[in-house]
Amino acid sequence: MTRSTLLDRVRQPEYTGENRCVPCTVVNVLIAAATSLVLGIVWVPLGLVSFVVFAGVIYTRGYLVPGTPTLTKRYLPDRVLRWFDKEPTPRDEVGVGGDAMFDTGDETIELDVEAVLQGARALEQCEDVDDLCLTDDFETAWTREIQRTDDAVVRRRLAAMLGIDADRISLADRGRWFVANVGGTYVGRWESHGALVADVAADTVLEDRIDDWDALANDHRSALARGIRVYLDQCPDCGGAVQFNQETAESCCRSWDVLVTRCDDCGSRLFEVDLSTVEEAPA
Ligand SMILES: [Zn+2]
Repeated sequence: MTRSTLLDRVRQPEYTGENRCVPCTVVNVLIAAATSLVLGIVWVPLGLVSFVVFAGVIYTRGYLVPGTPTLTKRYLPDRVLRWFDKEPTPRDEVGVGGDAMFDTGDETIELDVEAVLQGARALEQCEDVDDLCLTDDFETAWTREIQRTDDAVVRRRLAAMLGIDADRISLADRGRWFVANVGGTYVGRWESHGALVADVAADTVLEDRIDDWDALANDHRSALARGIRVYLDQCPDCGGAVQFNQETAESCCRSWDVLVTRCDDCGSRLFEVDLSTVEEAPA
Protein backbone atom coordinates (compact mmCIF):
# COMPACT_ATOMS: atom_id res chain seq x y z
CA MET A 1 0.00 0.00 0.00
CA THR A 2 1.42 3.39 -0.95
CA ARG A 3 1.65 6.23 1.51
CA SER A 4 -0.96 8.30 -0.28
CA THR A 5 -3.65 5.61 -0.26
CA LEU A 6 -3.02 4.99 3.45
CA LEU A 7 -3.42 8.74 4.02
CA ASP A 8 -6.58 8.78 1.93
CA ARG A 9 -8.04 6.02 4.09
CA VAL A 10 -7.55 7.85 7.36
CA ARG A 11 -8.25 11.32 6.02
CA GLN A 12 -11.71 12.72 6.76
CA PRO A 13 -12.37 15.40 4.13
CA GLU A 14 -15.65 16.32 5.84
CA TYR A 15 -13.62 17.65 8.80
CA THR A 16 -10.43 18.91 7.11
CA GLY A 17 -9.39 21.49 4.53
CA GLU A 18 -12.20 23.91 3.74
CA ASN A 19 -14.45 22.03 6.15
CA ARG A 20 -12.13 22.08 9.12
CA CYS A 21 -13.99 23.01 12.29
CA VAL A 22 -11.73 25.57 13.96
CA PRO A 23 -13.17 25.22 17.50
CA CYS A 24 -12.81 21.40 17.25
CA THR A 25 -9.20 21.77 16.14
CA VAL A 26 -8.35 24.24 18.91
CA VAL A 27 -9.95 22.10 21.61
CA ASN A 28 -8.15 19.00 20.35
CA VAL A 29 -4.74 20.67 20.09
CA LEU A 30 -5.14 21.77 23.74
CA ILE A 31 -6.08 18.22 24.77
CA ALA A 32 -3.14 16.81 22.78
CA ALA A 33 -0.72 19.30 24.36
CA ALA A 34 -1.91 18.54 27.89
CA THR A 35 -1.72 14.78 27.33
CA SER A 36 1.77 15.03 25.80
CA LEU A 37 2.90 17.19 28.70
CA VAL A 38 1.84 14.48 31.17
CA LEU A 39 3.57 11.79 29.05
CA GLY A 40 6.64 14.05 28.82
CA ILE A 41 6.88 14.16 32.60
CA VAL A 42 7.06 10.35 32.59
CA TRP A 43 9.65 10.29 29.80
CA VAL A 44 10.52 13.35 27.70
CA PRO A 45 10.88 11.55 24.30
CA LEU A 46 7.47 9.92 24.82
CA GLY A 47 5.90 13.37 25.27
CA LEU A 48 7.51 14.67 22.07
CA VAL A 49 6.63 11.63 19.97
CA SER A 50 3.04 11.53 21.23
CA PHE A 51 2.54 15.21 20.40
CA VAL A 52 3.79 14.66 16.84
CA VAL A 53 1.41 11.70 16.46
CA PHE A 54 -1.56 13.61 17.95
CA ALA A 55 -0.88 16.62 15.71
CA GLY A 56 -0.73 14.30 12.68
CA VAL A 57 -4.08 12.75 13.59
CA ILE A 58 -5.69 16.18 14.07
CA TYR A 59 -4.22 17.33 10.75
CA THR A 60 -5.49 14.36 8.73
CA ARG A 61 -8.75 13.60 10.54
CA GLY A 62 -9.80 17.04 11.76
CA TYR A 63 -9.87 16.02 15.43
CA LEU A 64 -8.36 13.58 17.94
CA VAL A 65 -11.08 12.86 20.49
CA PRO A 66 -13.91 10.83 18.89
CA GLY A 67 -17.17 12.75 18.61
CA THR A 68 -15.59 16.20 18.94
CA PRO A 69 -17.75 17.90 16.28
CA THR A 70 -20.91 16.74 18.05
CA LEU A 71 -19.55 17.72 21.45
CA THR A 72 -18.52 21.24 20.41
CA LYS A 73 -21.89 21.76 18.75
CA ARG A 74 -23.58 20.76 21.98
CA TYR A 75 -21.39 22.44 24.60
CA LEU A 76 -19.66 25.47 23.09
CA PRO A 77 -21.90 28.58 23.17
CA ASP A 78 -23.43 29.44 19.80
CA ARG A 79 -21.93 32.93 20.09
CA VAL A 80 -18.42 31.42 20.06
CA LEU A 81 -19.15 29.00 17.23
CA ARG A 82 -20.55 31.77 15.04
CA TRP A 83 -17.13 33.47 14.98
CA PHE A 84 -15.63 30.42 13.35
CA ASP A 85 -18.46 29.60 11.01
CA LYS A 86 -17.36 29.45 7.43
CA GLU A 87 -20.60 30.15 5.65
CA PRO A 88 -19.78 32.36 2.68
CA THR A 89 -20.25 36.00 3.62
CA PRO A 90 -20.26 38.42 0.71
CA ARG A 91 -17.73 41.28 0.95
CA ASP A 92 -18.37 43.63 -1.96
CA GLU A 93 -21.95 42.61 -1.87
CA VAL A 94 -23.86 42.80 -5.09
CA GLY A 95 -26.97 42.88 -3.01
CA VAL A 96 -29.23 40.24 -4.47
CA GLY A 97 -29.53 37.47 -1.93
CA GLY A 98 -27.99 39.21 1.06
CA ASP A 99 -29.71 39.21 4.43
CA ALA A 100 -30.24 42.96 4.28
CA MET A 101 -33.89 42.65 5.15
CA PHE A 102 -33.18 41.19 8.58
CA ASP A 103 -29.95 42.97 9.49
CA THR A 104 -30.19 44.49 12.93
CA GLY A 105 -26.69 45.97 13.08
CA ASP A 106 -25.48 49.32 11.78
CA GLU A 107 -26.57 48.52 8.26
CA THR A 108 -30.27 48.25 8.95
CA ILE A 109 -32.12 48.93 5.75
CA GLU A 110 -34.68 51.65 6.25
CA LEU A 111 -36.83 50.38 3.50
CA ASP A 112 -40.37 49.19 4.10
CA VAL A 113 -40.09 46.20 1.81
CA GLU A 114 -43.77 45.24 1.94
CA ALA A 115 -44.93 48.82 1.33
CA VAL A 116 -42.64 49.22 -1.68
CA LEU A 117 -43.75 45.85 -3.08
CA GLN A 118 -47.39 46.85 -2.65
CA GLY A 119 -46.69 50.20 -4.29
CA ALA A 120 -45.14 48.30 -7.21
CA ARG A 121 -48.37 46.26 -7.48
CA ALA A 122 -46.36 43.10 -6.82
CA LEU A 123 -48.16 42.33 -3.54
CA GLU A 124 -51.73 43.01 -2.47
CA GLN A 125 -54.07 42.02 0.36
CA CYS A 126 -55.13 38.39 -0.14
CA GLU A 127 -58.79 37.86 -0.90
CA ASP A 128 -59.42 35.10 1.65
CA VAL A 129 -56.95 35.65 4.51
CA ASP A 130 -55.47 38.64 6.34
CA ASP A 131 -52.09 38.47 4.63
CA LEU A 132 -50.28 39.63 1.53
CA CYS A 133 -50.40 37.73 -1.77
CA LEU A 134 -48.73 38.12 -5.16
CA THR A 135 -50.84 40.05 -7.64
CA ASP A 136 -51.84 37.87 -10.64
CA ASP A 137 -50.26 40.37 -12.92
CA PHE A 138 -46.86 40.30 -11.15
CA GLU A 139 -46.90 36.52 -10.83
CA THR A 140 -47.45 36.13 -14.57
CA ALA A 141 -44.64 38.55 -15.44
CA TRP A 142 -42.31 37.00 -12.85
CA THR A 143 -42.95 33.43 -14.05
CA ARG A 144 -42.29 34.46 -17.65
CA GLU A 145 -39.08 36.23 -16.63
CA ILE A 146 -37.90 33.20 -14.57
CA GLN A 147 -38.29 31.02 -17.66
CA ARG A 148 -36.05 33.21 -19.77
CA THR A 149 -33.45 33.81 -17.04
CA ASP A 150 -30.51 31.51 -17.83
CA ASP A 151 -27.00 31.84 -16.40
CA ALA A 152 -25.96 34.28 -19.13
CA VAL A 153 -28.81 36.59 -18.13
CA VAL A 154 -27.92 36.16 -14.44
CA ARG A 155 -24.27 37.06 -15.08
CA ARG A 156 -25.20 40.11 -17.17
CA ARG A 157 -27.57 41.45 -14.56
CA LEU A 158 -25.17 40.93 -11.62
CA ALA A 159 -22.36 42.51 -13.65
CA ALA A 160 -24.51 45.56 -14.39
CA MET A 161 -25.22 45.97 -10.66
CA LEU A 162 -21.51 45.78 -9.84
CA GLY A 163 -20.42 47.84 -12.82
CA ILE A 164 -18.03 45.18 -14.16
CA ASP A 165 -17.77 42.86 -17.19
CA ALA A 166 -20.07 39.84 -17.11
CA ASP A 167 -17.22 37.41 -17.82
CA ARG A 168 -15.57 38.32 -14.50
CA ILE A 169 -18.47 36.75 -12.61
CA SER A 170 -18.40 33.05 -11.87
CA LEU A 171 -21.29 31.10 -10.37
CA ALA A 172 -20.71 28.04 -8.18
CA ASP A 173 -22.51 25.61 -5.92
CA ARG A 174 -20.81 25.67 -2.49
CA GLY A 175 -22.85 23.10 -0.63
CA ARG A 176 -25.41 24.96 1.45
CA TRP A 177 -25.09 28.11 -0.65
CA PHE A 178 -24.99 29.01 -4.30
CA VAL A 179 -22.48 31.83 -4.71
CA ALA A 180 -21.33 34.43 -7.22
CA ASN A 181 -17.61 35.20 -7.20
CA VAL A 182 -15.53 37.99 -8.66
CA GLY A 183 -11.80 37.23 -8.58
CA GLY A 184 -12.14 34.80 -5.68
CA THR A 185 -14.32 37.09 -3.54
CA TYR A 186 -17.94 36.24 -2.80
CA VAL A 187 -20.20 39.00 -4.04
CA GLY A 188 -23.47 37.30 -3.27
CA ARG A 189 -24.93 34.08 -1.92
CA TRP A 190 -28.29 32.48 -2.43
CA GLU A 191 -30.02 29.44 -0.96
CA SER A 192 -29.82 27.68 -4.34
CA HIS A 193 -29.47 28.28 -8.06
CA GLY A 194 -33.27 28.54 -8.19
CA ALA A 195 -33.27 31.29 -5.55
CA LEU A 196 -30.75 33.28 -7.59
CA VAL A 197 -32.83 32.90 -10.75
CA ALA A 198 -35.98 34.00 -8.88
CA ASP A 199 -34.19 37.10 -7.53
CA VAL A 200 -32.73 38.17 -10.85
CA ALA A 201 -36.11 37.70 -12.54
CA ALA A 202 -37.94 39.62 -9.78
CA ASP A 203 -35.35 42.42 -10.00
CA THR A 204 -35.99 42.70 -13.75
CA VAL A 205 -39.78 42.81 -13.38
CA LEU A 206 -39.64 45.29 -10.47
CA GLU A 207 -37.43 47.69 -12.43
CA ASP A 208 -40.36 48.66 -14.66
CA ARG A 209 -42.73 49.03 -11.72
CA ILE A 210 -40.79 51.25 -9.33
CA ASP A 211 -40.48 54.92 -10.27
CA ASP A 212 -37.25 55.96 -8.59
CA TRP A 213 -35.52 52.64 -9.39
CA ASP A 214 -32.19 54.37 -10.02
CA ALA A 215 -32.18 55.69 -6.46
CA LEU A 216 -32.26 52.19 -4.98
CA ALA A 217 -28.97 50.85 -3.59
CA ASN A 218 -28.01 47.25 -4.38
CA ASP A 219 -28.90 46.34 -0.79
CA HIS A 220 -32.42 47.69 -1.32
CA ARG A 221 -32.85 45.75 -4.56
CA SER A 222 -31.61 42.67 -2.72
CA ALA A 223 -34.10 43.17 0.09
CA LEU A 224 -36.97 43.62 -2.39
CA ALA A 225 -36.03 40.48 -4.34
CA ARG A 226 -35.75 38.45 -1.13
CA GLY A 227 -38.98 39.97 0.14
CA ILE A 228 -40.87 38.79 -2.91
CA ARG A 229 -39.08 35.41 -2.98
CA VAL A 230 -40.94 34.36 0.18
CA TYR A 231 -44.11 34.31 -1.98
CA LEU A 232 -42.65 32.06 -4.68
CA ASP A 233 -44.92 29.05 -5.08
CA GLN A 234 -43.28 27.30 -8.01
CA CYS A 235 -39.69 26.04 -8.09
CA PRO A 236 -37.52 27.87 -10.68
CA ASP A 237 -35.27 24.80 -10.98
CA CYS A 238 -37.86 22.12 -11.76
CA GLY A 239 -41.34 23.64 -11.60
CA GLY A 240 -42.38 21.71 -8.46
CA ALA A 241 -44.58 23.06 -5.65
CA VAL A 242 -42.98 24.99 -2.78
CA GLN A 243 -43.46 24.22 0.94
CA PHE A 244 -42.69 26.22 4.11
CA ASN A 245 -40.96 24.20 6.85
CA GLN A 246 -39.00 24.60 10.04
CA GLU A 247 -35.64 22.84 9.76
CA THR A 248 -32.34 22.53 11.55
CA ALA A 249 -29.44 23.97 9.54
CA GLU A 250 -25.95 22.59 10.12
CA SER A 251 -22.49 23.84 9.30
CA CYS A 252 -19.21 22.19 10.33
CA CYS A 253 -19.43 23.59 13.85
CA ARG A 254 -22.98 24.49 14.77
CA SER A 255 -26.64 23.80 14.21
CA TRP A 256 -29.52 26.26 14.43
CA ASP A 257 -33.22 26.49 13.62
CA VAL A 258 -34.34 28.04 10.37
CA LEU A 259 -37.52 28.69 8.45
CA VAL A 260 -37.12 27.32 4.96
CA THR A 261 -39.10 27.18 1.76
CA ARG A 262 -38.14 24.15 -0.23
CA CYS A 263 -39.21 22.56 -3.51
CA ASP A 264 -41.25 19.38 -3.08
CA ASP A 265 -39.90 17.73 -6.23
CA CYS A 266 -36.18 18.49 -6.42
CA GLY A 267 -35.55 19.63 -2.83
CA SER A 268 -34.08 23.01 -3.87
CA ARG A 269 -33.91 25.37 -0.88
CA LEU A 270 -35.54 28.57 -2.10
CA PHE A 271 -35.60 30.78 0.99
CA GLU A 272 -34.11 30.49 4.43
CA VAL A 273 -34.13 32.72 7.46
CA ASP A 274 -32.63 32.13 10.89
CA LEU A 275 -35.59 31.52 13.19
CA SER A 276 -34.02 33.54 16.03
CA THR A 277 -33.84 36.69 13.84
CA VAL A 278 -37.53 36.32 12.97
CA GLU A 279 -38.52 35.90 16.60
CA GLU A 280 -36.39 38.86 17.74
CA ALA A 281 -37.85 41.14 15.09
CA PRO A 282 -40.66 43.42 16.27
CA ALA A 283 -44.04 42.05 15.25
ZN1 LIG B 1 -37.56 22.03 -7.74
